[in-house]
Amino acid sequence: MINPRIKSFLNDRKPDEPCLVIDLDHVRRNFDAFRTAMPESAIYYAVKANPHPEVLRLLASAGSNFDCASVAEINMALEAGATANRISFGNTIKKERDIARAFELGVRLFAVDCEAEVEKVGRAAPGSKVFCRILTNGEGAEWPLSRKFGCAPEMATEVLEHAHRNGLKPIGISFHVGSQQTNTEAWDAALESAATIFKEMETRGIRLTMVNLGGGFPTRYLKNVPVLAEYGSRIYGAIRKFFGNRLPDTIIEPGRGMVGDTGVIRSEVVLVSKKSAEDRNRWVYLDIGKFGGLAETMDEAIRYSIVTERDHDAKSPCVVAGPTCDSADVLYEKNPYELPDTLQPGDFVYIEGTGAYTSTYSAVAFNGFEPLKTFVI
Ligand SMILES: *Cc1c(COP(=O)(O)O)cnc(C)c1O
Repeated sequence: MINPRIKSFLNDRKPDEPCLVIDLDHVRRNFDAFRTAMPESAIYYAVKANPHPEVLRLLASAGSNFDCASVAEINMALEAGATANRISFGNTIKKERDIARAFELGVRLFAVDCEAEVEKVGRAAPGSKVFCRILTNGEGAEWPLSRKFGCAPEMATEVLEHAHRNGLKPIGISFHVGSQQTNTEAWDAALESAATIFKEMETRGIRLTMVNLGGGFPTRYLKNVPVLAEYGSRIYGAIRKFFGNRLPDTIIEPGRGMVGDTGVIRSEVVLVSKKSAEDRNRWVYLDIGKFGGLAETMDEAIRYSIVTERDHDAKSPCVVAGPTCDSADVLYEKNPYELPDTLQPGDFVYIEGTGAYTSTYSAVAFNGFEPLKTFVI
């Protein structure tokens, strides 16, 4: 959120273009909060949420592990100081040569969700540990991950047995309950499935030991969200309920929850206008939009907090749009946004909670607009 350090940095630096400012102290506090709320679980930071080198360096030195989705992300984690045994190649969709490259770099932990992927890992990363991702329904998540990743729980036993046949070490189950998951009970059903799979594998002579609880931990945007401690106690309660006294090792992979609230984007108002004399809503065009890093406003899924320096003035509903010549570049229209009547071109707005899934979503130069710059303070 916007704090005096970020404000004074922006006042001194006066960046000309929209930019993201990340408060590293805040990242450190979030890491410690995860440790406190879920002390039994190893933290694998989801690099894709914000791979800025200083963010990765701080987390590596704090003791984080890393969930990587590509060889490039693995290299970033290594450069930040993580050793290969602290890296998981968590993408279920990998080229065989990328698996081989990760293996050369020392990575020995891979996600799979089907037999074809198991065979690739078996050939390119012999003897490695694998976990099988199972589908969840994503209910309760503001940014659901749908059906793209994971197999039906009933299929996971076959996938894991296939891993064993292919010379790999099947160690457990993973799932992701959907990003910005505001329901602390969303992990229950997947944990119940995981416990069933553990039992079934045991009858096949394979003892699983690990459950990867994924991400989903939310950032506070406009609405309050449960605190991390509530997630921890609900999830650990469900693990005890379904696994009894044979508790598995657990991993969490926070992305948004680790960095979302550590960043603020400052953007400039380019134009305020109306489409007709009767138009009830003003249109406010910012110098950042869907292509400049705010892709999660797709379908108005993520509703950011937008702070202005005129928030004490009267407000009325506005359509908020980006600067590019693509008509899809509208952030909020179905559900207009209340902004001050006095807002005018040249004013700055502060878009809070933008530390995750912004800088990497920014286009390289659509319409000639520079990719979103990140400053770390
Ligand atoms: C994106 C991703 C995460 C991070 O999810 P958040 O909801 O941002 O915490 C974790 N694990 C995997 C496998 C992912 O793809």
